[in-house]
Amino acid sequence: SPVIELAEVTKSYPGGVHALRSVDLSVDQGELIAIVGPSGSGKSTMLNVIGTLDRPTTGTVRIDGHDVARLSDRQLSALRASRIGFVFQSFHLAPGRDAVANVADGLLYAGLPKRERERRAEAALVRVGLGDRLGHRPHQLSGGERQRVAVARAVAGDPAVLLADEPTGNLDTVSGQGVMDLLRELNAAGTTVLVITHDHDIAGTLPRQVPMRDGRVV
Ligand code: ADP
Ligand code: ADP
Repeated sequence: SPVIELAEVTKSYPGGVHALRSVDLSVDQGELIAIVGPSGSGKSTMLNVIGTLDRPTTGTVRIDGHDVARLSDRQLSALRASRIGFVFQSFHLAPGRDAVANVADGLLYAGLPKRERERRAEAALVRVGLGDRLGHRPHQLSGGERQRVAVARAVAGDPAVLLADEPTGNLDTVSGQGVMDLLRELNAAGTTVLVITHDHDIAGTLPRQVPMRDGRVV
């Protein structure tokens, strides 16, 4: 059965903005998907609904077969923390904290002792090729390296699904390719990956494209 299933999902904002207008989407475990479309077409909204950061206005969202509307806030938080990782365009790293601390903080909800969080953080940083940057703070890292820290934080808890919103948007071409190669490696190791991108060269290399326009998957 699909790991993600959206059925007739709508999302409206006050003032009559219809960010999503009846979206159907089915994603199998292990897929690698590019979400493409013009600015304002609903890509971020769809990713936030899939990631349970936002609840839909109407329609059904299923993650791992769970209808998220039937979950309490506490159950939803647990599902999100254990199954879903997020990466954003603007990295969202804590400036005064080194790479290990930034990644380990992402595991605060996992109920692990500090030493174990740090051990997993180090393993995730090694996995993204930053084994020699463990003690570096964000300002000591390049843009590409900062995004790798963000990816390490997203995958340190071993999520089934990785959601990336324009992860290469603030990066030069070479750093962006590095981050995309990393997402491909994580996908090859079993993680389902959905990535929003404006870059047609990137989207064209991914096995499945989900094109959006005016709040719909077209
Ligand atoms: P995209 O990611 O494709 O650029 P978004 O999902 O960010 O599109 O936005 C879709 C539409 O919803 C846009 O018209 C945007 O302005 C609007 N929108 C997104 N978030 C909000 C919000 N929190 N409040 C009001 N309108 C929003
Ligand atoms: P990015 O382009 O970096 O993905 P956006 O500028 O589209 O980010 O959106 C940043 C945040 O602002 C998101 O949380 C989104 O939901 C919110 N947002 C986007 N458009 C609007 C809007 N028209 N009104 C209110 N909030 C919005």
